[in-house]
Amino acid sequence: MDQDCIFCKIASGQIPSLKIFENDHILAFIDIGPVSDGHTLVIPKQHYGTLDQMTPEIMAEIAKVLPMLAASIQKAMKSEGYNVLCNNGSAAGQIVEHIHFHIIPRNANDGIFKKWPSFQYPDGKAEQIAAKIRENLSL
Ligand code: 5GP
Ligand code: ZN
Repeated sequence: MDQDCIFCKIASGQIPSLKIFENDHILAFIDIGPVSDGHTLVIPKQHYGTLDQMTPEIMAEIAKVLPMLAASIQKAMKSEGYNVLCNNGSAAGQIVEHIHFHIIPRNANDGIFKKWPSFQYPDGKAEQIAAKIRENLSL
């Protein structure tokens, strides 16, 4: 437990939350600042900062429940789709430094995440980048 971490405090019950699911390892609760109705956060109860700091074992615990939670939220909210989002690092928009997966119910034309800023690589750049990433794989 990280004494300064708000999600550790939520996991331990020191700070209240609207829980929708919990087991020994995982807690899912309603986001206090939703971007759509039903916006839910799924966290490991143990403190990990970012995705790359998680162990395969705790990631497996997330994987065991995330599809079920996404399906349940989609059914409850009657949404057409949903995003699963995980911000890692402040540059990527992570504010709470305890890993969490957002489940965000979505409907056509709901205006959330309006623009996906995609672009095209110039010739050869994608191949260079793919090679660089392969060189850095820590298997
Ligand atoms: P991030 O930007 O770190 O990926 O998202 C953090 C999320 O946590 C935000 O969507 C924010 O609304 C939510 N959040 C922050 N503090 C609390 C809290 O005390 N309770 C709940 N339920 N959600 C919180
Ligand atoms: Zn924490």
